[in-house]
Amino acid sequence: MRSQVLLIVSLFIFASIILVTLGFIQSEVLNSVRAFVRGEGLWAKSQKDAVYYLERYAHGQKESDFEQFKQALSINLGDKQARLLLQNKPVDKERARQGFLAGNNHPEDIDSLITFFLRFQDFYYMKKALSVWQAGDEKIEVLIQMGHVIRSHVKEQNKEGLKLALKDLDTLNHELNVIATEFSLVLSEGARWIKSTILTFSVIIISLLALGIFIITRHIINALNQTETELMLSEKRFLSLYDANVIGIMDWDMQGHILDANDAFLNMLGYSRDELIAGRVNWQQLTPPEFNELDDNAINELKNHAVCRPYEKEFIHKKGHRVSIYIGAALLTGETDKGICFVIDQSLQKLNETQLKLSATVFNASSDSIIITDQNKHVVAVNNAYCKKTGRSEEQLIGYMPPIFTTQLMTDDFYSQLSASLNETDHWQGDALEHTVTGNTIPMHMSIDTVRDKHYSITHYVISMTDITERKEAEDQLKKLAHYDYLTGLANRSLYHDRLTQALVRAKRHKNRCALLFLDLDKFKPINDQYGHEVGDLILQIVASRLKNLVRTNDTIARLGGDEFVIIMEELKQPEHAAELAKKVIASVSKPCQVKDLTLEIGCSIGISIYPLDGQDTLSLTRNADIAMYAAKGSGRNSFYFFHPSH
Ligand code: GH3
Ligand code: MG
Repeated sequence: MRSQVLLIVSLFIFASIILVTLGFIQSEVLNSVRAFVRGEGLWAKSQKDAVYYLERYAHGQKESDFEQFKQALSINLGDKQARLLLQNKPVDKERARQGFLAGNNHPEDIDSLITFFLRFQDFYYMKKALSVWQAGDEKIEVLIQMGHVIRSHVKEQNKEGLKLALKDLDTLNHELNVIATEFSLVLSEGARWIKSTILTFSVIIISLLALGIFIITRHIINALNQTETELMLSEKRFLSLYDANVIGIMDWDMQGHILDANDAFLNMLGYSRDELIAGRVNWQQLTPPEFNELDDNAINELKNHAVCRPYEKEFIHKKGHRVSIYIGAALLTGETDKGICFVIDQSLQKLNETQLKLSATVFNASSDSIIITDQNKHVVAVNNAYCKKTGRSEEQLIGYMPPIFTTQLMTDDFYSQLSASLNETDHWQGDALEHTVTGNTIPMHMSIDTVRDKHYSITHYVISMTDITERKEAEDQLKKLAHYDYLTGLANRSLYHDRLTQALVRAKRHKNRCALLFLDLDKFKPINDQYGHEVGDLILQIVASRLKNLVRTNDTIARLGGDEFVIIMEELKQPEHAAELAKKVIASVSKPCQVKDLTLEIGCSIGISIYPLDGQDTLSLTRNADIAMYAAKGSGRNSFYFFHPSH
């Protein structure tokens, strides 16, 4: 701004100097022209005077007239001397001056005459004037000669010669008058040309100057306008920010004073504007002591760079509690101890951060496995418990779908129920298998919850899992107890009934036959009695394992109780196959048993019933096999009998 004003002032000074110089040159030139015109006038008058005095001398023959003639010619000769000296190289200005003085020119005009002569002698009009002047000087020479002739005629009283000489003088006078007129015309013509040229030149220079000044001034004014607009805009911007109260803004000084602040700042700290005006709000006093060092660093930065990088600190609220803020400051332009700063309340953010930290701690400390996915079911977070449980690292999981959404460990039914429940209720829970990195499966109780934003769009899924291996094992144990014989591990009576029922359904569907081999150990009670119950139990276990070795994996062996066993043979092609198995069973069971240090022998009796021949249901088939077994016992034991209605 200051420099632009200086520029404008300089421009006007420059223009003024140009105009004054132009005026000076113009007046100098015109003055020189005037001096030349005056000089020419004197020259013309002198030559006229010379002719006049010569004529008077010729008629009156007075010596004083001849002297006057010579006197008059000295002016023309002085001018001639000046002209010749100025036209010759090198120019002898001093003698030329003497010439002009002799030419009766005013002493103060002589410098102008010499300067003008030298500067413009090559110009058209000056050249023309000089040639007329030269022609005039030549005629003056003739006049001088004529003066000498007339003088000699007067002295000799040669009237006839005088008469002729006067006639020649008249002719010469006429010629000199013509030259004087032409000289005068050329000079006035040249003067007019110079005047108009100077005028045109001045007009052009002044116009160019005015145009230049106009363009530059307009440019400066535009720049000033732009600066002003920018300043107004910047002021507007600042005021908008200040009044919007989105962030706190305050003016401060190094002594701790708060010179001004917007409402956002005052509200942040619980002070009123009156308290601010009364000087009761001081930023140093509002700062808890532990932040003094941070403030000192910021002040140093401000002193060195006029701005300080934003930093976090706390102020004390009027009510006494701390307010977390984010602050950045700058010195006011040209000031060393006053500045402006922005203050952003970070209390809510800090609270959120604390809550987030707490959530993260809970998330990672939880003994339950937790996975969080985005709306596309890609993992965004996974806790330590899950990584530990499955052996997978966070890197292996983040960005991928978790196994519950990808692997097919469960039935199709399971997965369709899961998605239906999530779609309808935003929640699902149930038991599912989870893969470990080594390929093992872990039974988990899982719950999946959908997280939605305020527009009800899904943002995340939270999957939490509890390892239910122990529970599953306990359940399996219970199941085993309910369906299996605790001593031998064979199916118990209840499972036997289930299996037989299923076997009969299959046999009926495929029109197959089944056989039941009902087996009772012979004379088992005496072993119990003789060697104890424990030995009896071991015998029962040996028998069970020998039976297992004899049958196909599909066939069921059950212990119905005491020393009674049943074998269900499915897809029986021939009844003889049942007899063959019965024989093998008898042979196997009859082999000596090594129990502790005892070698004991035991036999068994077997009754066989065939489906559909000997019964259509479990009860009748079992009963009939039992009847056949008793028939075998009755026939002397360690043998087998097919059921027969006559039994
Ligand atoms: P039989 O030749 O007529 O079959 O006579 P047995 O001596 O084998 O006697 P029976 O089949 O009538 O009775 C079975 C016996 O098995 C009765 C009981 O002392 C014994 N017993 C039943 N349950 C168990 C058991 O769980 N462990 C042991 N060690 N003995 C059992
Ligand atoms: Mg028995």
